Amino acid sequence: MNKIFVIIAILTNVFTVSAQQNVQRKHALVIHGGAGTILKAKLTPEKEKAYKTALELALKTGDSILANGGKAIDAVVAAIKILEDNPLFNAGKGAVFTNEGKNELDASIMDGSNLKAGAIAGVTNIKNPITAALAVMQKSEHVMMAGKGAEKFAALNGCTIVKPSYFFTTERWQGLQKAKLKDAAQMDSSNAIKDPLNKDFKYGTVGCAALDIYGNIASGTSTGGMTNKKYGRVGDAPIIGSGTYADNNTCAISCTGWGEYFIRLSMAKAVSDRMELKNMTLEDAAKEMIHSKLPALGGDGGLIGIDKKGNITMQFCTPGMYRGYINTKGELVTKIFKED
Ligand code: ASP
Repeated sequence: MNKIFVIIAILTNVFTVSAQQNVQRKHALVIHGGAGTILKAKLTPEKEKAYKTALELALKTGDSILANGGKAIDAVVAAIKILEDNPLFNAGKGAVFTNEGKNELDASIMDGSNLKAGAIAGVTNIKNPITAALAVMQKSEHVMMAGKGAEKFAALNGCTIVKPSYFFTTERWQGLQKAKLKDAAQMDSSNAIKDPLNKDFKYGTVGCAALDIYGNIASGTSTGGMTNKKYGRVGDAPIIGSGTYADNNTCAISCTGWGEYFIRLSMAKAVSDRMELKNMTLEDAAKEMIHSKLPALGGDGGLIGIDKKGNITMQFCTPGMYRGYINTKGELVTKIFKED
């Protein structure tokens, strides 16, 4: 008799779970943890698991905000904060080192419901740069603040301030030493470095794009930039229209990759423009930019995006991109390699 009860209980549970999964939800989100030379052969099973666990935690954190009626912009911040606090990613705690051995962080955020945006660049002591980008958007009359001024503004507006040494991690420090050696070996006769991105080092810029139950979309991006980057270099991540863009009429995008090329292509806005002006789908617009326009210039990287219907795209032209989503069906997916 007891056995029958157990079987009935299990079956009821199975049917309830699958019924829940088939319910069309209004909200969804997609994240990335950076694109680059991420090869299965080079990632231990433990590391792979650690990345996937971190991606899942970020997705679930953002999803629970959306499920409880929170705004897309708040889900984006919450998901990115999780990734910023994890040293596996090149953002917040795990930021890479500049040529001078410092950590200089960039971040941006945009709200597709009103085209408001905020960004910070080159900061050294803000624990969660995405919160400072949000503060610039919500509490200042500006869109972008840089360096000492951004740090002062963040401190005055309640962002957590840490010592610059908080961002030291042995792995990133060793990454800088290797990058310097490689650069030295690559100097050509004109003293130009042929591969300034050091593609052999994997990158872990983080980003999120979300759709909330009110039909609004938002996206954000946070990064330590590029290992061995030079004096005052700022990449695409804090540039609205390049690393981040969101417009309810089209899509919300967050990019990762060789920043200089993303800036030159105005990557995130270019995807949006293709949807608005050429009537392309999010998927087609993202594919054209990442698989055609970007490599044509010699750049590489990827992006994630969502539109107001909850369609999701994750495109990259590198061997891998840490990525994942929870879609409107409630399906949670995380992936790393191209062949995943
Ligand atoms: N796009 C970032 C930058 O150029 C780096 C990355 O996404 O890996 O700063």
